[in-house]
Amino acid sequence: MANPKVVVITGGSRGIGAETAKLFAQHGYNVCLNYVANDTAAERVRSDILNLGVRCIAVKADVSEANDVAKLFSRVDQELGTLTVLVNNAAILNTQARMMDISVERFNDVLQKNVISCFLCCKEAVRRMSTHQGGIGGSIVNVSSMAAKSGSPNEYVDYAASKGAVDTLTRGLALEVAAEGIRVNAVRPGLIYTEMHALGGEPERVDRLKSRIPMQRGGQPSEVADAIFWLASDKSSFATGTMVDLAGGL
Ligand code: NAP
Repeated sequence: MANPKVVVITGGSRGIGAETAKLFAQHGYNVCLNYVANDTAAERVRSDILNLGVRCIAVKADVSEANDVAKLFSRVDQELGTLTVLVNNAAILNTQARMMDISVERFNDVLQKNVISCFLCCKEAVRRMSTHQGGIGGSIVNVSSMAAKSGSPNEYVDYAASKGAVDTLTRGLALEVAAEGIRVNAVRPGLIYTEMHALGGEPERVDRLKSRIPMQRGGQPSEVADAIFWLASDKSSFATGTMVDLAGGL
């Protein structure tokens, strides 16, 4: 029997990442779920995944730091085996503010946490997956946001700009590695019920804005996880460099 596939999900301890980690486990993947602070949440997801009968490691690492990222992927090599899928999901959001009130330090921090993290993890994954470097190919899914298209005026232009960069990185990398057995795609969620909105200072944000959504409701993390899984799997085998919008028509 073939070895189980291996997925790394950054920010896999809560919200969209946690649902995605559990979905891959349900499909028999061995899972590395990464997180940065909340040990309890990570351990809860790991325990749920172990109950599904696959292997799972929860690795605390700041994916915006190159040394942490290198250690994260080494643990995957040693403890889970050949990497097949990377989901770049970890990201941060700061409190709502007009752009004129956003400091240079805050903007740089958002770019580091949301873009450099994706760049660093993609590099580690491509080194392992590329058929030009002895790998067996693989799939990368980046979690962008509809904010990349809206610009998030009066809320967080810095976050929106970081997601615009993720879209561009997705497209560029997809074309660079398309002939090396690696597909790179992205999802752009709209308003999804997770704890992230509390970071922006408004836990009830999805409910406040849901009347603007053509489908008249917010999305569930599982609805994003389903699209991530599809993009990662062979079911989307001819898709690369694409963005799937998941926003109820918004
Ligand atoms: P969330 O509930 O706030 O969870 C964020 C996860 O990322 C947590 O597991 C957190 O770990 C981890 N994390 C944050 N910074 C990290 C770092 N530097 N290194 C490693 N892990 C880190 O977020 P979410 O709402 O599920 O969002 C997931 C993704 O979807 C993000 O890329 C977000 O931008 C995108 N998105 C979300 C929405 C939405 O409405 N929720 C909409 C569009 C796009 P700890 O638990 O340890 O803090």
